[in-house]
Amino acid sequence: MRLKPSQITSKTSFNHMNIMKNNNENSKGTLKGSCLCQAVVYELTQLDMPIWICHCQTCRKANAASEVATAGVQRSHFRLLCGEEKLTAFESSPGKLRYFCSVCGSHLFSARDGQTHVILRVATLDTDPGLRPLGHIWTSQDQPWLDGSTQPCFAERSS
Ligand SMILES: [Zn+2]
Ligand SMILES: [Zn+2]
Repeated sequence: MRLKPSQITSKTSFNHMNIMKNNNENSKGTLKGSCLCQAVVYELTQLDMPIWICHCQTCRKANAASEVATAGVQRSHFRLLCGEEKLTAFESSPGKLRYFCSVCGSHLFSARDGQTHVILRVATLDTDPGLRPLGHIWTSQDQPWLDGSTQPCFAERSS
C-alpha cells in the first residue's frame, strides 16, 4: 500500500470531471447527499449500479470503517450543488482518486479519469435510494477483530 503525501492531489484534478457543468435533461436530481459538515452537497437522479459493501483495506483506512457501501453513478446523473472548492482528492491507487471534504473529512466518491461514472459512498446520501445492498465484496481483507455481526445490538448506546 503506497500512501505518499505527494499523492494528495490538488482540486484541479476535480475540474475535468465536468460534473459541475451538467446542465442536460438529467440534471434534475431526485436524490441528495452531503458530507458531515454540509459544506459539500450533491444530487443525482439515480444509482446506476448495485450497492456493494466493500471490505477492502483501502476503503477501511480511507473511511475509518470496517466496511463501506458504494455504488456507481454516471457522471451525467451526478452533480455537485455546492462545495467543489472544499473537495480534496487522494490517489489511493494509480489513477484512482478518492474525493473527500477537506473540512470534515467525509469521503464522498471516487473516480478514475476516462470513466463515465463515479463510485459514490452511498452512506453520505440523505435520501433513501430505494435500493438495498446486493452483497459484500473484498471480505478476504476483513479484520476478524472488527467483525460485529454476532454481537448484541442497542438502538442507542449501551448503558
Ligand atoms: Zn464536510
Ligand atoms: Zn474498497
